[in-house]
Formats: sequence, C-alpha cells, structure tokens
Amino acid sequence: MTKLQKQAKLERIAKAIQSRECGLQIALDCQNPVVGDGNPQAELMFVGEAPGAKEDLLGRPFVGASGKFLDQMLESIGLTREDVFVTNIVKYRPPKNRDPSPHEIAVCLPYLVSQIAVIKPRLVVLLGRHSMNVFLPKLKISEAHGQIFIKSKITFLPLYHPAAALYNSKLRNTLKADFAQIANILEKSKA
Ligand code: URA
Repeated sequence: MTKLQKQAKLERIAKAIQSRECGLQIALDCQNPVVGDGNPQAELMFVGEAPGAKEDLLGRPFVGASGKFLDQMLESIGLTREDVFVTNIVKYRPPKNRDPSPHEIAVCLPYLVSQIAVIKPRLVVLLGRHSMNVFLPKLKISEAHGQIFIKSKITFLPLYHPAAALYNSKLRNTLKADFAQIANILEKSKA
C-alpha cells in the first residue's frame, strides 16, 4: 500500500473514532477523541492505555509528562515522533484517569486493530500492563517486559509504561535498557 493509500484508510478510521459512533459514555463526555498520530508507514508503533487530561485537551496522544519521557527515549535511539505511530487502546479519556473498563476496551479495540492492519508496523510496543494484557492476557509486566511475543503474525514488545517509570528510578533504568533494544529488534526483523 502506498503512503497515500495508508493515509486515506487511517483517515477513515479517524473519522469513525471522532464521530463517537460507538456511543460509549466516555466518548460522549470527553473533550477530544484521541485517534493517535505519526507516520502512516511507521515500522514502529506504540500503544498506550488511554488518553489523560492533556491528551484529552489537545486531542493528541502522549503529550503530557509521560509523552515527554517517551520523546526522550525515542531521541535516545535516534527517532522522533514523526518516524513512529503513537496511539492508545482506548481512544477517549476515562474520567479522573480511572482504568478503562473491559467493555470500553472491547468497543475501542477494533479501531486499534484496524490501525495496526493499515500501518503494518514491524514492531508494536505495548506500553504498560493494561495495554499488554489486551493482546497478551495473563502475562505479568514485571516478567514480560523487554521480551518479544508474536501473536497473529504481529510482533509485540511489552515495556513498562513511561508514567510508571517517571517517578521510580529502578523502573526508569529498566525501561531505558529495554528501549535500547528496539533498534536491534527492528534490524533483526529485516534480516
Ligand atoms: N498515558 C497513556 O497511556 N496514553 C496517553 O496518551 C497518555 C498517557
């Protein structure tokens, strides 16, 4: 698929998300749906949990404190947000940053699955245990982080969520070390 074709397909998915046609209460109540953004031809995709307050305000993923940390880690491996695609499992902010419910996850999941199917990244990085458990149920993030899992022909890498690592120096070092492997994993996937 060409970049233009991918863009057009992603735009159709974005319109569906933005129309709030799912009718979820969080979709009706949020300020701005957060579709996700970045390069339609990204080799690397990041999937967080759900938008927070700043993301809801701006309608963009990972623009708050954990987003800044994500940007720094990207920079450390020579990438910018323009090189990757960043999105969330749930496209609407749950109030007071509560965890999304299983129903909200189930309703939003087809949007993410479609985004992955269009972009066809070499690697999908799952940020945090909630995002990981949607695709890789029952795994523990403390055990699975930094390891590759292949499911339905998609290669997943679970990592600690930047928000969890922000205020915990041990997790932060682990996350940075796991992140440093990404370039290697991408290289190997091309071999
Ligand atoms: N945390 C997430 O999981 N996603 C965002 O977009 C922002 C913070």
